Amino acid sequence: MYIIMLGAPGSGKGTIGKEICNKFNLVPFSTGNMFRDEIKRETELGKKANEYISQGNLVPDEVTIAMVQEQLSNLENVLLDGFPRTINQAEKLKEILSKTGKNITAVINLRVPDEDIIKRTASRVVCTNKDCGASFNTIFMPPKKEGICDVCGAPLTVRDDDKPETTKKRLETYYNSTEPLISYYEKEGLLEQIDIDIYSPTTKEDTTNKAIEAIERRL
Ligand code: ADP
Ligand code: ZN
Repeated sequence: MYIIMLGAPGSGKGTIGKEICNKFNLVPFSTGNMFRDEIKRETELGKKANEYISQGNLVPDEVTIAMVQEQLSNLENVLLDGFPRTINQAEKLKEILSKTGKNITAVINLRVPDEDIIKRTASRVVCTNKDCGASFNTIFMPPKKEGICDVCGAPLTVRDDDKPETTKKRLETYYNSTEPLISYYEKEGLLEQIDIDIYSPTTKEDTTNKAIEAIERRL
């Protein structure tokens, strides 16, 4: 089973993705987390990726695809969070999967208005433990203990690219490069749209339930 999470930065791909992984026993595959790990370890790939990420740009396709190809090929039940992000990446993914006779089960698009995205990313905090990677929000989804991850107890931190200037640029990048994937996957008959109300106190549960129902309809 292959599930793709789509949505602007801060739409909740990581948070909702985690719930879907728990429900269907999927391996989370987040290119953003992979890049952040490479950056933290100061690898060559990390240094290269950081030049783009810190500016709110996408890492070039050839770099991203090489990393994905290497890591994805031996995984079975996967939730893709943050990949594909361009039409080119989507075509490549299709090619990688079709080689082994695999198909995408569903593409979940989380739709959030722009002004809400800016609010959400400005107050986002993430877990520093790379094996956890949980995400919280000081306004909308505070951790039980300030500055501490509910899931694993590690300290929380603000992501470098969540500064309002970078978020604006990331949104622009999203509309230019990633949004076209919505109609791409609609044409493929794989798209499931979910509208997000960030002000609802039950937004996480509601979104999770809708996503799970959408996937179950396709099994
Ligand atoms: P968000 O949670 O804000 O959507 P991610 O954690 O998925 O962000 O990704 C962080 C950054 O990593 C992106 O802004 C982009 O620069 C880079 N990145 C992640 N996935 C990809 C990808 N598939 N292609 C190119 N760049 C990527
Ligand atoms: Zn954690």
